[in-house]
Amino acid sequence: MSEKYFPLDRDTLEKLAERYPTPFYLYDEKGIIENVRRIKAAFSIFPGYKQHFAVKALPNPVIMKILAAEGFGADCSSYTELLLAEMAGIQGEDIMFTANETPAHEYQLARKLGAVINLDDFSHIEFLEKTAGSDRGLPELVSLRYNPGPLKEGNAIIGKPEEAKYGLTREQIIAGFALLQKKGAETSFPKRFALHTMVASNELSIPYHVETARVLFELAVEIQAKTGIRLEFVNLGGGVGIPYRPDQEAVDYQVLAAGIQKAYNEIIVPAGLHLGIHTEWARVVTGPHGWLVTRAIHKKEIYRNYIGLDACMADLMRPALYGAYHHITIPGKEHSPLSETYDVVGSLCENNDKFAIQRQLPKIDTAAECAAAGSGSGDFVVIHDAGAHGRAMGFNYNGKLRCGELLLRQDGSVMQIRRPETADDYFATLNMASLKDFK
Ligand SMILES: *Cc1c(COP(=O)(O)O)cnc(C)c1O
Repeated sequence: MSEKYFPLDRDTLEKLAERYPTPFYLYDEKGIIENVRRIKAAFSIFPGYKQHFAVKALPNPVIMKILAAEGFGADCSSYTELLLAEMAGIQGEDIMFTANETPAHEYQLARKLGAVINLDDFSHIEFLEKTAGSDRGLPELVSLRYNPGPLKEGNAIIGKPEEAKYGLTREQIIAGFALLQKKGAETSFPKRFALHTMVASNELSIPYHVETARVLFELAVEIQAKTGIRLEFVNLGGGVGIPYRPDQEAVDYQVLAAGIQKAYNEIIVPAGLHLGIHTEWARVVTGPHGWLVTRAIHKKEIYRNYIGLDACMADLMRPALYGAYHHITIPGKEHSPLSETYDVVGSLCENNDKFAIQRQLPKIDTAAECAAAGSGSGDFVVIHDAGAHGRAMGFNYNGKLRCGELLLRQDGSVMQIRRPETADDYFATLNMASLKDFK
């Protein structure tokens, strides 16, 4: 069992909504920091442990600054994400640049920022050298991304590694490091090497993650045996899951770290190697500490009973995209009987715009019902575990404007860290002159 929390009571939320109308994302600074410290404490058994928060999950530089103050770096995979890292004051090798199908200008920015560049393909060794090399050739430190293929079982969101587009095969990894070594001997760079993989997403199984580490450790030993290269670190990627469903169990960081340490002691220590352990988690870092806060605006009773929200799939698309479960609570009705069965839906002209399907919930009072009765403002509907891969995946289909983001500070105050979009934002990329000129 995992407990679902929400840090504000109904009255506080009602006051907050006067200042910042729903829908909005709310992130809990205290919850994030406490979680980060638990992660750090568990992984402190590895000297030089480094966590790079995957920016794509929650690309807000204020959040990244909170994480950076705790020693977390950033994992970026695009030009804009690199700029966000820079904005948050994250520099040099605290940035891991793990992109794929990477254009030259992205490598150039990554090099300018001194990021650790993690190559997704054998051919990118030459591509990086040609398009973003310096007079000393490649960067001092180069990382390669490994795809273990059929060695590793698949996972629901990412799929089977042998069907995944990412990374180099085992043979290519060995050949890649040999090539890097040859280039290093010619130009002096690179002279530091690292290995990366990312094979799962939202995976709650500790043995799965320990097995990933084991596969990388064995490869690190093989690389040393075949090329003489002693890797500086391995990056185990992200993919640690969160208990979206209340009956699921959160990953115990200490048990996970101990499992990885056991594999390290069995594989790396006897080989006489010293490997740094890096990770690039996101979901498990901020996911449970963010909520999409919405208001129930309409109720509709046809073949099923529907609750219509003021948010839609454009604000949070995971349920529609993967049928993902997101827990829902109604502030002020936490202890009410779950007497109703609703589909909780958004306003998109797409029938998969549903946050919950046939969900047992307390009886919900909508804004429309309250307006008709002349009292109250309708129930809030809080969608849990939206602090990662939530707002970030939003889009503008149907002319929908994405909502803003609020940060609940440790002292209880609230800071707006992203305003809601306006119609002007939506129109900003239109060339108005072409509209005027077009006949
Ligand atoms: C998405 C991603 C992550 C973060 O994944 P989580 O499942 O949120 O931990 C880390 N690394 C890479 C390369 C990614 O694509």
